[in-house]
Amino acid sequence: MFNVERTKEVPASLSAKRSYKDEDVVKALESSFHKKCYLCETKEPQDINIEHFVAHQNNDDLKYEWKNLYFSCGRCNNIKLDHFNNLLDCCDPKDNVFRAIKLLPPRTPNTEIVVESQNDDDKTIQTAKLLNKIYNSDHTVNKAVTRSYLRKKIYTQYTLFQKWLIKYYAEDSLLAERENALERVKVLMSNESQYSAFIKWCILDDNNLSKELEAWID
Ligand SMILES: [Zn+2]
Repeated sequence: MFNVERTKEVPASLSAKRSYKDEDVVKALESSFHKKCYLCETKEPQDINIEHFVAHQNNDDLKYEWKNLYFSCGRCNNIKLDHFNNLLDCCDPKDNVFRAIKLLPPRTPNTEIVVESQNDDDKTIQTAKLLNKIYNSDHTVNKAVTRSYLRKKIYTQYTLFQKWLIKYYAEDSLLAERENALERVKVLMSNESQYSAFIKWCILDDNNLSKELEAWID
């Protein structure tokens, strides 16, 4: 997961309590969340949902509250439903959602994804449980198929990271090539890139790169 800084300006459709699905709201969410699902970190998902972090149950204050709206993919929203109501909040700077849950990419497109809570409070445990379900569970045929698509995408991002890592560590790399490789890794670690938490956890596990890129890890 990644932390999100929401745009300060509340979209007009929400202030007027007109709609939480109008273009101004979708655009503002898209920009705040870097076009990524706040749960699985897929960028530009085909099916997007505007999710109420706290279920609104027809309470207009919650329904049109800017801070209660999250950018999610249809798959994650469908897995979360009403089953997870006590989660870490990626929009709350007090919750470092990246550090709270360790995520390691699959070594092949079909291996399990490591999801480990780093704290033992209920919110972290619940969030890790949800992420585990998103990345690893095959509780329905449909979810098993889409899980395989998701893992492949994460694996592809991981191979991009590996490509630059090989350049960075290669004996015959020139200094300029090594510096360029490091810049590329910074791009993959940034909140704008998909699955950035996976890449940052790989770096944290590398004694050399974790020091070299310390300033780039939240
Ligand atoms: Zn998602």
